[in-house]
Amino acid sequence: MFVEGFRVESPRVRYGAGEIESEYRYDTTELAPAAPEGKGKEWVVRPKSVTYHFKTTTTVPKLGVMLVGWGGNNGTTLTAGVIANREGISWATKEKVHKANYFGSLTQASTIRVGSYNGEEIYAPFKSLVPMVNPNDIVFGGWDISSMNLADAMARAKVLDIDLQKQLRHHMASMVPLPGIYNPDFIAANQGSRANNVVKGTKKEQVNQIIKDIREFKGKNKVDKVVVLWTANTERYSNVVAGLNDTMDNLLASLDKDEAEISPSTLYAVACVMEGVPFINGSPQNTFVPGLIELAIKKNSVIGGDDFKSGQTKMKSVLVDFLVGAGIKPTSIASYNHLGNNDGMNLSAPQTFRSKEISKSGVVDDMVSSNAILYDPGEHPDHVIVIKYVPYVGDSKRAMDEYTSEIFMGGKNTIVLHNTCEDSLLAAPIILDLVLLAELSTRIQLKADGQDNYHSFHPVATILSYLSKAPLVPPGTPVVNALAKQRAMLENILRACVGLAPENNMMLEYK
Ligand code: NAD
Repeated sequence: MFVEGFRVESPRVRYGAGEIESEYRYDTTELAPAAPEGKGKEWVVRPKSVTYHFKTTTTVPKLGVMLVGWGGNNGTTLTAGVIANREGISWATKEKVHKANYFGSLTQASTIRVGSYNGEEIYAPFKSLVPMVNPNDIVFGGWDISSMNLADAMARAKVLDIDLQKQLRHHMASMVPLPGIYNPDFIAANQGSRANNVVKGTKKEQVNQIIKDIREFKGKNKVDKVVVLWTANTERYSNVVAGLNDTMDNLLASLDKDEAEISPSTLYAVACVMEGVPFINGSPQNTFVPGLIELAIKKNSVIGGDDFKSGQTKMKSVLVDFLVGAGIKPTSIASYNHLGNNDGMNLSAPQTFRSKEISKSGVVDDMVSSNAILYDPGEHPDHVIVIKYVPYVGDSKRAMDEYTSEIFMGGKNTIVLHNTCEDSLLAAPIILDLVLLAELSTRIQLKADGQDNYHSFHPVATILSYLSKAPLVPPGTPVVNALAKQRAMLENILRACVGLAPENNMMLEYK
């Protein structure tokens, strides 16, 4: 059974005029070796409970979203999709009449279990847990190194059905991206012909221009908050060099010196952190060099990423979790992709491909290291990633994966997947979730019992990891890639905000 919403009645929750306050018992464990370090195999586990207090502002702001790479396949598809939902557009294909929807969005199209009623499971929308921005109310804007308006750029992307495009054109023709920061050294040379809309000046001047753009966008559209998200071309990795970008001071000094090795994505991120505007990186490059992470922490400004977890990697973070969790040992994973959109063309250059290869490679690490029954220390499955540019298939990416595993008594099991899907239709709802959750995370405050003051989440937003291929975490924090754990983390934190226990699936009342 489905309910649209619910209200928690508990002495531990108070719904106030502008906020929800909750008290939440966080049950965890403390671990220690029974004997001094290195001696004996015994460990002692002590259950530990900490009471946390959450405070969530319920006034939902008018949200502006500025996309870097607004005129690309993802940027146009998301903008078009939101307008189609807002206007209630439907369109005909040879199969049927389609209605605009938000399928693929965790916040808009998934549900959570609330409990049981008369022996039936009751579900509610994920978004009903705490008040969130309605995506139909988002004002979009952003930058692109190509000056093409969004209506023409949507046609260039060749993602949406033509009958839908025709209905959307007049909504999008007047949307024109602001000039973007272009540095041909960081993306493939084949992107040069697109770059007719670029910010001039030194790196410092470029950062100042982005800050000015954000302020003007905010004023012109009368939005309360802005979130910026990079969905522009994948850049090559920037070199992390002592004295250049390894600390906040060095990064800021390098900016003043107009150092060549600061990437455009890092420049946008610096501008956002300086402005206190959340910045999310949807591509694989190392935008968040150590100096930038330090800057974000000092300014307490939200950063999140990296690289949307949309297709092949999402499957991998489910399948390998299942295999290793079932006691089966994946020994070789070979992942091929071919795609024919502009992203594919950009990734055909070795340096940009390398960024993607790195972000796709680490995804099984936590699952492998969780099971020392299967893997010896340091042992890892062979893991190969190939991406080829095949123009004809356009945005309809093909992903082919072969997983070989060792099973009982020397047996082998090979699973082969073939996945075909419009890449941008997978990415757009993920972008939506990223900006909605980034905004929401700025409205949540917490403190543990005994702490005097509430604080916000750590500025490095691990709460977004479900949506990221290579989750960015604060220094010294474990990385979790397994999809089910990432989803549970997110859901359980939002449940805590309204004083609900984590979903434990025990269903003891029926046992
Ligand atoms: P796209 O090439 O269609 O769009 C990128 C846009 O960015 C282009 O319009 C380009 O002109 C613009 N651009 C490039 N450099 C810029 C800069 N410095 N400033 C402003 N604009 C700039 O690509 P896409 O298919 O929309 O994908 C966007 C990014 O998302 C890629 O890096 C891709 O790897 C990443 N990504 C996509 C998916 C997916 O499923 N679609 C998944 C994970 C990551």
